[in-house]
Amino acid sequence: MRVLLIEDDESIAEPLAEGLSRYGLAVDRVATGGAALAGPFGDIVLLDLGLPDMDGIDVCRRIRQVSHVPIIMLTARGEEADRVVGLEMGADDYLAKPFSMRELIARIRAVTRRTHVGAPHATLPVPAAPQGGHLYVPGTGVAGPAPRRPEALVVDRRTRQAWVGDDLVALTPKEFDLLALLAEDPGAVYSRQQILDQVWDPHFHGPTKTLDVHVAALRRKLGDPAWIHTVRGVGFRLFVPASRG
Ligand code: CA
Repeated sequence: MRVLLIEDDESIAEPLAEGLSRYGLAVDRVATGGAALAGPFGDIVLLDLGLPDMDGIDVCRRIRQVSHVPIIMLTARGEEADRVVGLEMGADDYLAKPFSMRELIARIRAVTRRTHVGAPHATLPVPAAPQGGHLYVPGTGVAGPAPRRPEALVVDRRTRQAWVGDDLVALTPKEFDLLALLAEDPGAVYSRQQILDQVWDPHFHGPTKTLDVHVAALRRKLGDPAWIHTVRGVGFRLFVPASRG
């Protein structure tokens, strides 16, 4: 596995690169956002947010525009706002400095396990979906004087793609996992902890705001917030239009 390490602080980058290579990872080191964007991104990106030439958040956003490579942000403490924005911009996870090599390796494994296309999802049972791997959720067809053309939500686990109607929805790996989980049993309520355990890590103890950020991004990308219902004090569920009637 190839890691692109974007870190300008030599005293951090040096031991980090050394540690990663001890775990058998090939490390490409760059010290600026410009160099990072020139690519290649490898199999995973470790991104320091405080870079000399540009904001790490912008680097994250621009990588995400052209690649689905998993991104883990490396942040200083007290940068919570940055982390939230970073997750909104498509980063998959973050680690607050200082962190241990073991912690970093565990996050890298978790993120790449979740995002690797075609990898077996040991913890996520594949739903008995119709249409060969496509989960089909019938459209919202909101009732009114001029009913909207019904649109369907299709989640294809095999290719890790989702469509609303004819539009392919560009999702980050985490957003897809979140949607795929909710789509396993449309209408069923998934508790916040269930979602964090399955889409993030078992025993996830990070800020639960992370989940809200991803739900917000997912709603925005699906083009209609009604797709995902908040069940106050419990969790979330995928809207099932048929259950409305
Ligand atoms: Ca820095």
